[in-house]
Amino acid sequence: MSARIAVYPGSFDPIHNGHLDIIARCRPIFDEVVVAVLRNEEKRPLFSVEERTEMVAELVGGDGFCRVESFSGLLVEFMERIGARTIVRGLRAVSDFEYEFQMALMNRRLNPRVETVFMMPREDYSYLSSRIVKEVFGFGGDLAGLVPPTVLDRLSGRLGRRDPPA
Ligand code: ADP
Repeated sequence: MSARIAVYPGSFDPIHNGHLDIIARCRPIFDEVVVAVLRNEEKRPLFSVEERTEMVAELVGGDGFCRVESFSGLLVEFMERIGARTIVRGLRAVSDFEYEFQMALMNRRLNPRVETVFMMPREDYSYLSSRIVKEVFGFGGDLAGLVPPTVLDRLSGRLGRRDPPA
């Protein structure tokens, strides 16, 4: 039987505990998960694709289960190149559903062999997004337990150490 490779695509700008929760949920189900970091510099991410890839690799790379790669263009073409047929996406709330539904059906149309699997994170992370992480960090809010310390360090390096308002 061929290896069950899951591809977990996203911007990961930056990676946070909601993403890590989904990766952990893949462990009992797949042989390998490839975190596919989207090269989307035109969307002006806070971190370059190299930085985002590095941050993910620092946290989950190198244990034989999880591999990190960057990609641009069509996800299904990237998957074809690495021999994967399953996309993993996280579903936080109903608000995620419509976009995810469109993407899943479009990817299936582009390659009928590709299936998308959705996973729900722990409730504590269901309101967490990279956007809200950057906003809260910018105002000096406490992100302990939501974002790994290595990522907090990178945020400080990029945005400056933020102390909560007095
Ligand atoms: P994208 O730009 O593709 O949405 P993200 O990095 O924001 O990239 O998200 C990548 C994937 O991780 C998506 O499937 C998204 O739904 C999921 N995700 C984001 N935040 C969370 C979270 N808090 N819990 C679970 N899954 C999440």
